[in-house]
Amino acid sequence: QAKANGRNNYQYFTADLNVLASERLVLETSMRQALVNNEFTLFYQPQAGLADGGVIGAEALIRWRHPEHGLIPPGKFIPVAEESRLIVPIGNWVLREACRQAAEWQAAGLPPLTIAVNLSPLQLHQANLLEIVADALAASGLDAQYLELEVTESVVMQEVEHVMAMLHGLKRLGVKLSIDDFGTGYSSLSYLKRFAFDKLKVDQSFVRDLTTDPNDAAIVLAIIGLGKTLGMSVLAEGVETAEQLAFLQSADIDAIQGFFFSRPIPAEEFRQLMERMPVLPLPEMPA
Ligand code: C2E
Ligand code: MG
Ligand code: MG
Ligand code: MG
Repeated sequence: QAKANGRNNYQYFTADLNVLASERLVLETSMRQALVNNEFTLFYQPQAGLADGGVIGAEALIRWRHPEHGLIPPGKFIPVAEESRLIVPIGNWVLREACRQAAEWQAAGLPPLTIAVNLSPLQLHQANLLEIVADALAASGLDAQYLELEVTESVVMQEVEHVMAMLHGLKRLGVKLSIDDFGTGYSSLSYLKRFAFDKLKVDQSFVRDLTTDPNDAAIVLAIIGLGKTLGMSVLAEGVETAEQLAFLQSADIDAIQGFFFSRPIPAEEFRQLMERMPVLPLPEMPA
């Protein structure tokens, strides 16, 4: 049905959404309904380790399967969900569903993957976030070490004491924590002294022109150095070409995520990908 509507209809809806955003109530109602009707779904994008190309994890990325307008990407509704605070119940659904799916894959015999879930700043400010995460783990049976929560730099800039306490609480639960979109937020680096993140994700804006823009290359090398020196694992987002991959490999980055390996795909397709290609073929490194 969504397919039959085609591209044009989707563009109309995009325009509609912007109008609706100004009438927040309408869109809010529609998102609330989407939660009840199970219209949200998660796509998964593999992350490959560059030691051997093996898939080490997957990032869960939300989509809205709208009954009339088809598949809507998060950029079109997450900002409004944040404004209306609906991101809290939506984000909690994402947590539970991602944990459930990861546990199901493990039970089906797939090698244990780390499932990465994006946490909105508002979720970090929920008083009961620790309980919600613990519940998602308990309900799914997923071991905490296989859940990774992604936060952006901006969250560590507001209400620092509260956020630090929350991050330490999450760490005590045994989950992993990563910094998403690193290098794009307005932040000082001082939070890196105060909290030991497990992983740093280099923003895709630095990766895009990596092989043609010496400034981007220098920034990426510096971020890899910083991350490694501080004991974090470093992953590059938005890797689309073999050239970018080769550069990152020679820069000794730990892992990559991007269209070069796979776009975000539905759970069933992800399972098939894991059976067909559980290892990303790496380019030969010059000796
Ligand atoms: P993000 O967390 O930085 O996720 C990575 C985004 O980059 C994804 O877009 C992914 O499809 C895209 N991407 C991955 N590889 C490539 C590539 O090689 N080239 C290019 N051009 N893009 C690539 P997506 O799925 O549209 O998500 C956009 C953003 O929406 C995410 O950015 C994240 O900030 C937010 N988001 C997605 N799902 C959730 C969620 O469940 N909760 C919250 N709070 N935010 C979410
Ligand atoms: Mg992310
Ligand atoms: Mg990112
Ligand atoms: Mg992003």
